[in-house]
Amino acid sequence: MTSPDRELRVALEARQVEKLYRRRLTLETPQGARVRVDGRACVNFASNDYLGLANHPEVIAAFVRAAETYGVGSGASHLISGHSRAHQALEEELAAFTGRPRALLFSTGYMANMGVINALMGPGDLLLQDRLNHASLLDGGFLCRARFERYPHGDMETLDGLLAPVGPRRILIATDGVFSMDGDLAPLGELAARADARGAWLMVDDAHGFGVLGDKGGGIVEALGLGLDAVPILIGTLGKAFGTFGAFVAGSEALIETLIQFGRTYIYTTALPPAVAAATRASLRLLRDEGWRRDHLRALIARFRAGAAALGIPLLPSTTPIQPVPVGDDGRVQAIAGHLRAAGHWVGAIRPPTVPRGTARLRIALSAAHSEAQVDALVEALATAWRAVPAAQGKS
Ligand SMILES: *Cc1c(COP(=O)(O)O)cnc(C)c1O
Repeated sequence: MTSPDRELRVALEARQVEKLYRRRLTLETPQGARVRVDGRACVNFASNDYLGLANHPEVIAAFVRAAETYGVGSGASHLISGHSRAHQALEEELAAFTGRPRALLFSTGYMANMGVINALMGPGDLLLQDRLNHASLLDGGFLCRARFERYPHGDMETLDGLLAPVGPRRILIATDGVFSMDGDLAPLGELAARADARGAWLMVDDAHGFGVLGDKGGGIVEALGLGLDAVPILIGTLGKAFGTFGAFVAGSEALIETLIQFGRTYIYTTALPPAVAAATRASLRLLRDEGWRRDHLRALIARFRAGAAALGIPLLPSTTPIQPVPVGDDGRVQAIAGHLRAAGHWVGAIRPPTVPRGTARLRIALSAAHSEAQVDALVEALATAWRAVPAAQGKS
């Protein structure tokens, strides 16, 4: 018998030599500001639970009640027999929340992006994406058989050049709203104006903006006042600020019906457990109505940035809870994250291929569940770790 192992080990060892090997840490508690990970108590700056809703008692209670009502498994895809009253109610509430005529649940954000792009785009079409878009948007582009071009991050001039030639049947511009590893915002006003001028469609994946941006947590489109005309295809995920799991697409009646008919990642997969939908209805209410979480989060972001700047820690221009600290070297970023964890602060060490080569970074994710004292302690520990691991020492 031929085992794949010998061949696979070659690539695994290469990844280790490059200091790009990834290991999972095991979480022993619910998500939250204070967690236990691999046997150690830590303050958690490594999750996307931006509002602290993943372990909220009302969300848990809704989940438990719904599991008692509907059971656990949805039992089938939405089109067969898996579409429950809980799913339907959540879709209606998400449509109202986003100010769009309809919303459609997907089992994950990854699948929503793959499904939307592949339902809308095919041979002869032109798909344009920001180079730093999330992998699920990029993978949707690779799969869809349209002409697919990526423009440098936020580079409107290059985008104009790509939009200039006439010919393609259909043009779609797809972008993250908040960029997941940089924390900055897409220039949505400029993108919408270009899409309008060129008859292109604009698709915005605001996985990291919902719950965080906008007075009601409606994300980047609420913050910028962009309606259905400007952003006809809007994606949100439920596993981040909503604190649950899954994703949705919000848009027109025709868009949603198109996805139900032609979205392969919608059609050929099991519906989310109804209890997840019910829990998300509870988290949507908290996310929308309890603005104090956003206020507290905004104050923590400003506090972190002021504190880090005062101690000479480099930052990127982000106004969101995603606060990357650029390090560059893959070994050094791991060493600094290791120091921080030993001191009780858990931050993500983000390396290629998640980010471009040479741009490894710490990804500090702030949450409304954090206290000012926890953020202050992180800043101090960061300055200590930054000095303890000099640039040369981390070099491989
Ligand atoms: C997390 C994320 C996704 C994927 O969502 P999942 O529900 O986790 O699959 C898609 N797009 C962006 C921008 C994300 O950050």
